[in-house]
Amino acid sequence: MNAPCDTFERQRLANVHPPGWRNPEPAARYHLVVIGAGPAGLVAAKGAAGLGARVALIERDLIGGDCLNVGCVPSKALIRTARLYAEMRNAAHYGARAPDDVQVDFAAAMARMRQLRARISRSDSIAAMADAGIDVFLGHARFVSGDTVDVDGTRLRFDKAVIATGSRPDMPDIPGLGEIDLLTNENIFDLTELPPRLLVIGGGPLGCELAQAFSRFGASTIIAQDMPLFLPKEERDAAQLLSDAFARDGLEVRLNTKVTAVRVENGEKIVDMVSDDHHSSVPVDAVLAGVGRLPNVEGMDLHLAGVETTDSGGVRVDDFLRTSNRRIYAAGDACMDYKFTDVADATARIVVRNALFPGRQRVSALTIPWCTYTDPEIAHVGLYVRQANELGIPVRTFTVPMHEVDRAILDGEQIGFVKIHVAQRSDKILGATIVASRAGEMINEITLAMVNGIGLNRLANVIHAYPTQAEAIRKAANACNRERLTPFIAGLLRWWIRR
Ligand SMILES: Cc1cc2nc3c(=O)[nH]c(=O)nc-3n(C[C@H](O)[C@H](O)[C@H](O)COP(=O)(O)OP(=O)(O)OC[C@H]3O[C@@H](n4cnc5c(N)ncnc54)[C@H](O)[C@@H]3O)c2cc1C
Repeated sequence: MNAPCDTFERQRLANVHPPGWRNPEPAARYHLVVIGAGPAGLVAAKGAAGLGARVALIERDLIGGDCLNVGCVPSKALIRTARLYAEMRNAAHYGARAPDDVQVDFAAAMARMRQLRARISRSDSIAAMADAGIDVFLGHARFVSGDTVDVDGTRLRFDKAVIATGSRPDMPDIPGLGEIDLLTNENIFDLTELPPRLLVIGGGPLGCELAQAFSRFGASTIIAQDMPLFLPKEERDAAQLLSDAFARDGLEVRLNTKVTAVRVENGEKIVDMVSDDHHSSVPVDAVLAGVGRLPNVEGMDLHLAGVETTDSGGVRVDDFLRTSNRRIYAAGDACMDYKFTDVADATARIVVRNALFPGRQRVSALTIPWCTYTDPEIAHVGLYVRQANELGIPVRTFTVPMHEVDRAILDGEQIGFVKIHVAQRSDKILGATIVASRAGEMINEITLAMVNGIGLNRLANVIHAYPTQAEAIRKAANACNRERLTPFIAGLLRWWIRR
């Protein structure tokens, strides 16, 4: 597949990998060498340079990493347009009229995505890094010793280094998959034409988001997941609501389904699947693999620096994000189980503190929210009930369905709930799951409360603008507050009023 080469793409490349870029003369020694210029590497490099450190940043491909180029940014741009098409088809529900047969302009949606991606690439540009005093080297980094990195023949010596090399798509081991032009997040955003029939393998966040978006663009989409539900880490009722939403969108949901082979017959791609002993074969035009991510550590000669990896192939780090070489740290997807941009950012900040200063900040102390940007969105922070149970922490859960929230009713977005878990006999928030059209925005209030030790009862005192969907959080807080009203206190209040 040929990537489109329009003005927007040229602008982006000028920012993230300018043609003809010449690496600078390296300094004799750097306080910090950062390998990988995704969100983790950029935050580490900018943070350290801003504090006065001499910093080198190495990137073998595109500054901005997956998030900007082939991840969060392009996917969220497409999801927005896809959502608009879904709303247009549903116009009558909003008391509006739209043509019966809404025509999708997929190429225009992709062009909009490229334009916005080019615009956002300015803040991650190589020029912005150089302006921040960072020496940027384009090339593949590999260790040659415990304090030296080689970038295509140039040696950089360091006091400290951070491995922020991110991850890449895992390839499912399915016979025949290697014989077709498989779509992954690395090439799907280069499409200019919508595949009429799409099979998505994998029901994690990436598979779910893109399956729904492409289905809304009009691709006849099947999503195959070899487990009983999508998003296996999430709470079951949240995942169930997502299955229902997919079915409403016309997405063909195949749970407990394994893709066993992909073949090409008479020029057509055929996918063989087995669901609960039932075998089926479907013709498709494209297959998207979204089965997981593998850390990028290949070709880095980590052993020459004494850096160990884990069984799953990530960089092994301790709670301070130090590797087995005390000079070398890691951040982001390269070492974390939770592969999100906000995690990459937060871990990079810890690395700057712990590597350059006598910092002892622990990664286990982080409170990390995340969100899957389907419609409805599914956001989570803190503990799940099953995790609290495993830790022996008794939990009390307060749930507010979105259909009890005025704004959700008015917006026609009543599917979902806010579920907040507190420690029993206290109002300490342990975790929350939100399923709502803007769950990703709403989860931040809970995260703020958790980080600052604000109990759920106190959220009842926070005046929420009316009507907002975040009022669901206040309703949950009110329910928690009401439980404090023991019969004794209720009696006391009654006595006071009637006295
Ligand atoms: C389709 C998709 C959608 C996503 N959506 C979201 C979302 O909405 N929200 C969210 O929080 N997260 C999302 N993510 C996850 C997010 O993109 C990643 O968690 C994030 O990019 C990780 O940042 P990172 O800096 O650790 O790694 P990366 O972004 O992967 O960057 C690592 C960089 O290191 C470079 N590199 C690797 N090896 C070397 C080497 N040896 N020498 C030099 N350079 C090297 C790579 O080229 C790359 O540029 C999404 C991911 C995908 C795939």
